[in-house]
Amino acid sequence: MHLLGASPLRVAVIGLGAVGSQVLWQLSRLPDVDVHGFESSYPGHPEAGSGGESRLYRNFEMDDPAYEPVIERADTVWRELESATARRLRCPTGVLLIGDGESPQLQRAVRSAQRSSKPSRILSPQEVRSSHPQLSVADTDVGLWDPQGAVIRPELTVSSTVDLAVDNGAVVHEFTRVTHVDEDRGGVRVDTAEGSRSFDRVVVACGGWTTKLRPDLRDTVVVRRLTSAWFHAKDDGHLRGMVPFMRTAPSYCYGIPAGNDSTVKLGLGFNEHHPVADPDTVPRIPSPQEADRFAWIVDDVLPGLQRRPIRMSTYLESYTTSMHDYIGFDRTLPQIVLLTGFSGHGFKASPALGEIGAQLATRGESDIDLGFLRDAAPVFDIVDPATGEATHNHIVSSRPSDT
Ligand SMILES: Cc1cc2nc3c(=O)[nH]c(=O)nc-3n(C[C@H](O)[C@H](O)[C@H](O)COP(=O)(O)OP(=O)(O)OC[C@H]3O[C@@H](n4cnc5c(N)ncnc54)[C@H](O)[C@@H]3O)c2cc1C
Repeated sequence: MHLLGASPLRVAVIGLGAVGSQVLWQLSRLPDVDVHGFESSYPGHPEAGSGGESRLYRNFEMDDPAYEPVIERADTVWRELESATARRLRCPTGVLLIGDGESPQLQRAVRSAQRSSKPSRILSPQEVRSSHPQLSVADTDVGLWDPQGAVIRPELTVSSTVDLAVDNGAVVHEFTRVTHVDEDRGGVRVDTAEGSRSFDRVVVACGGWTTKLRPDLRDTVVVRRLTSAWFHAKDDGHLRGMVPFMRTAPSYCYGIPAGNDSTVKLGLGFNEHHPVADPDTVPRIPSPQEADRFAWIVDDVLPGLQRRPIRMSTYLESYTTSMHDYIGFDRTLPQIVLLTGFSGHGFKASPALGEIGAQLATRGESDIDLGFLRDAAPVFDIVDPATGEATHNHIVSSRPSDT
């Protein structure tokens, strides 16, 4: 607990990606906090977990209803952020969730929509076919239309949020990788190639690099290299009016049309991504064979697409064994707050996560009760902490390719 009237609390935020940028902004708004941000590249760079031009913002929770207050709070803080930046950070497209009517994820999302104050609509397979002709759906499928769902502009969100923090007085150290953190007379010493600085509190939000800085997390957190692939349609005009969608497991996938109706970006689930032993040596250029992993989506979900992508790019994401965020204090240095393991769903909640991170760093507790994160049961096991090899993860299982 920081005493009012004392000298400002010195806080470092390490990693200015989706979550660290939001923590930095929230801390920069507090009167008695002197905040520094460290980023090994620049805010809004495309190489970590926030690249690829788009992220889905969905209002309804398809896995754990305990996340609902986080999403609700995130929506409020997104609005504040959009107003403060005067930028359109979420494009209001709506988002369609599709799944077999018996799919537990689809059913949980429907119940989440029923509890929510946001509008929603359940669509029969015939209604999906007539409103969304790009999508092939089975007679057993059901659609859940989330009209206030949106497409996030991730890189712009990160860079604009850091700009706001700098306007508030935050100091940002770009191209400054933190190499080590250690105890220092009750505080924390932050080492970089340029030298060391001491802080009262440190927030570590390094995404896929977090386990490099705090290796003891490797028993709970693994890193994956995700590939996104952009496809043209077979015919001009085919993608006109297409909305972003997500399919539930066991055919988990999602598609986000680019704003110009020219391409759609496709993504797969955890089991189709490569385990990462060291985020700094991971191959960054996908092999042409990786395109085959998307073939079943073209065959079964979006038959109007060309069979092979025009572009593929890779990104890094951290996953906890429960697929629930890892938010809390470091096991050996409790002055350090850790925010990681966002398991493929961190961006939509990032403004709320930023607020939570700032509250933990300054007050030691957050307004939203996070007990559900700690209590969540594992959905996969880590086979080898050194390589990140893990067992099958049924929560976001896609149809496997043969490659
Ligand atoms: C392809 C893909 C699709 C996704 N789709 C969605 C979606 O549709 N909706 C959704 O809500 N979420 C989605 N996610 C998840 C979401 O993007 C991530 O959960 C989120 O980006 C994680 O944020 P982060 O801050 O933990 O990590 P990042 O955004 O990766 O940020 C970490 C930052 O830390 C920096 N850094 C690392 N180590 C150091 C160091 N030692 N010193 C200084 N800086 C350091 C990195 O350069 C980076 O900028 C997706 C993720 C991926 C990869």
